[in-house]
Amino acid sequence: MEAMTISAIIVAAGRGARLGGDVPKQYRLLSGRPVLGHTIRSLLASDQVTEVIVVINPRDGALYAPIAESIADDRLKPAVLGGDNRSVSVRSGLKAAAGDYVAIHDGARPMVPLDALDRVFTQARRTGAAFLALPVTDAVWQVTDGKAATALPRDAIWRAQTPQVFERRAIMAAHAAHDGSADDDVAIAVAAGLDVLPVRGSQRNIKITFAEDLVLAEQQLGTHMDIRTGNGFDVHKFGDGDHVILCGLKIPHDRGLVGHSDADVAMHAVTDALFGAIAEGDIGQWFPPSDPQWKGAASEVFLRKAAERVAARGYRISNIDCTLICEAPKIGPNSERMRHNLAAILGLSLDRVAVKATTSEKLGFTGRQEGIVAQASVLVFKP
Ligand code: MG
Repeated sequence: MEAMTISAIIVAAGRGARLGGDVPKQYRLLSGRPVLGHTIRSLLASDQVTEVIVVINPRDGALYAPIAESIADDRLKPAVLGGDNRSVSVRSGLKAAAGDYVAIHDGARPMVPLDALDRVFTQARRTGAAFLALPVTDAVWQVTDGKAATALPRDAIWRAQTPQVFERRAIMAAHAAHDGSADDDVAIAVAAGLDVLPVRGSQRNIKITFAEDLVLAEQQLGTHMDIRTGNGFDVHKFGDGDHVILCGLKIPHDRGLVGHSDADVAMHAVTDALFGAIAEGDIGQWFPPSDPQWKGAASEVFLRKAAERVAARGYRISNIDCTLICEAPKIGPNSERMRHNLAAILGLSLDRVAVKATTSEKLGFTGRQEGIVAQASVLVFKP
């Protein structure tokens, strides 16, 4: 069989008054991207679609331009102008379309699944006209004077979705013969005597009409939470002294840790993990050892800075996990107070902060008690 070309016509010229607000619903953000951007991409996802023609309102050019620019696909053709009346907009799209078939789709249906597209394209190729729809499962009542009057036979009732797919010449002729007042293109095709077959659509293929539809669509798209991890690593060597400072806690020891600041190796690792999670360099870049103002500094200053940067970028810390590697001093008896210190500085609940310790079985430089190693992992997220 010769390949049949399909033009997708996305009708996006309406003003969406029911949603409220100044921005038409097809330009509202859904998971950080305009609804219409999702819609265009969902149709381009089908390799059966040979071109996409978006019909926009003449007033929406500035809203549409960045969407078109963000989509690098030659099949997306220049937008055509429509109007407030749906049929007028569809006719503008039909005039620009070149495909053997046209798939007319609502701009405010951002999530039509690929398998549903496959089903409706296949049916349309067989019989000339098909549309996505869902059988009604609720009881359906005709209401008269505000009261349930007549139960309708739901077996015979389908809720229409889009795309609605037709042979291009047939639907153009149907539009030419119609006065244009119709809820959808199935109505126009049926009025022209075409047989239009319902094909099982999808619950995902919702139409954004009311504000709560955007919330529902967000949920269906899944949580697009921006989650990042970071890890930090630090080493400080032992030198003269009578204590070490770990996670801000002064622990008596027969040696001290050598460093430009207070040599809090654990807090340095946590700080670097936070800088790493947001890809903002490391502790050495923020606080150069060559800068005398950090001499002997309490490392809490560094940690607070990293936490401040995480917050400034819109992230929240989910948890911190820090491991110290040393033979001595003993970390276990001190780890609770160390956790408390970190939790207090970072404003976290205690159950989100872990401080653990291990030895290296007397192997290597930590085994020879020449220094302490600290490693840290963090997870940050943008709600
Ligand atoms: Mg350090």
